[in-house]
Amino acid sequence: MRLTRYFMPVLRENPAEAQIVSHRLMLRAGMIKQNAAGIYSWLPLGFKVLRKLENIVHEEQIRAGHVPMLMPTMQSADLWRESGRYDAYGPEMLRIRDRQDRDMLFGPTNEEMITDIFRSHVSSYKDLPLTLYHIQWKFRDEMRPRFGVMRGREFFMKDGYNFDLTKEDALHAYNRHLVSYLRTYERMGLQAIPMRADSGPIGGDDTHEFLVLADTGESEVFYDSAVTDLTFGDRDIDYDSVAQCQGVMEEFTNLYARTDETHDQALFDAIPAERQRKARGIEVGQIFYFGTKYSDAMGAKVQGPDGKPTAVHMGSHGIGVSRLVGAIIEASHDDKGIIWPEGVTPFHCGIVNLKQGDAEADAACDALYTSLRALGLDPLYDDRKERAGGKFATMDLIGLPWRITVGPRGLKNGVVELTSRKSGESVEMPPEQAVEKIA
Ligand code: ATP
Ligand code: MG
Ligand code: MG
Ligand code: MG
Repeated sequence: MRLTRYFMPVLRENPAEAQIVSHRLMLRAGMIKQNAAGIYSWLPLGFKVLRKLENIVHEEQIRAGHVPMLMPTMQSADLWRESGRYDAYGPEMLRIRDRQDRDMLFGPTNEEMITDIFRSHVSSYKDLPLTLYHIQWKFRDEMRPRFGVMRGREFFMKDGYNFDLTKEDALHAYNRHLVSYLRTYERMGLQAIPMRADSGPIGGDDTHEFLVLADTGESEVFYDSAVTDLTFGDRDIDYDSVAQCQGVMEEFTNLYARTDETHDQALFDAIPAERQRKARGIEVGQIFYFGTKYSDAMGAKVQGPDGKPTAVHMGSHGIGVSRLVGAIIEASHDDKGIIWPEGVTPFHCGIVNLKQGDAEADAACDALYTSLRALGLDPLYDDRKERAGGKFATMDLIGLPWRITVGPRGLKNGVVELTSRKSGESVEMPPEQAVEKIA
């Protein structure tokens, strides 16, 4: 992309309404625009990151054997009356009446709808196990929408639902989700720690939240510092293996890590004092096993191997895709701007032309741009007629992992400058070598 043809409305000043750094940087980098309280447009740069996260989530869900689909944002109140949640959900649910006077709602989550789809089409245990998911906009009329996309009212969420014959099978699905989530967050360059949590309005017994440690997080958390040493890495996991998934679940949840809702002071005190940590975290996902809560209420049964109808065991599993954009920035920035992890960066690198209009510099930038794109990379070429300082500040703000700086002086010696956003280190090298380094 050439910057002169792009739409990236960067702000010079710090927007007054932003209380936390991720919100401030997303506004300043021209990633989002608020349209109403907690409702945002995703401008091109923000949209690119959102799509990258969405793709990672899809890839990891499909790798785990889960099946993508898409349900609507609008739902009929009738299904929620069946589960009893139409009244129970409270004012966070945005209720809408259509022209036929039917009660509708903008879905805050999809347990009812997916259970209805399941009961309409699945009648035998032979069709199990089944995990369906979608990534779709949700609406919750939050009391205090704030911190930009971190607590929006309209937000983008992956929600998946498993259907299993037995509790045992459903717990395998739970563990499989835990494993796939560990992989997902690590690919985004994040450490998200599974912590024992409270199930809230979804209901159920077993639940873990995934938390990214950050001072600006809204959750209070207590943990054994040894959990932060755990990494999933690139282990090869067989998602069908009950033992493997359970092993990973145990490894990542045996150490003490809980949110304030389930915090147990006596257990916490038993951790060696130097490893006790009290901190704040951002909830970027949650997994639940809730047994037959919805299948009982809504009659989602299959014929078991014994021929008898039996209610399916279910769980639901959410990832806050739009919140993650903010969470990644909270975890990765400096005083100049965002520092995108490689896996989620909106562009792979920036090309800064120090002397736009200089025939040689323009030609060298064009050549770099072409060869990067030929390798399947996505460069952002700052081809504006601006001062170098302004161009550097913009690149630092939007946080691409690499910057290639091209100017007449370097070109005389056959070199450009390659700068790492993270380390700030700059090295001169021939253009081809810079391309190789980035690829
Ligand atoms: P919170 O405790 O932050 O209100 P939640 O527990 O109500 O979140 P879940 O029902 O568990 O949310 O939804 C799954 C994920 O969706 C959450 O882990 C979070 O990452 C994301 N999410 C929930 N509410 C919002 C929101 N208002 N804005 C952005 N993301 C959200
Ligand atoms: Mg909530
Ligand atoms: Mg929560
Ligand atoms: Mg939650």
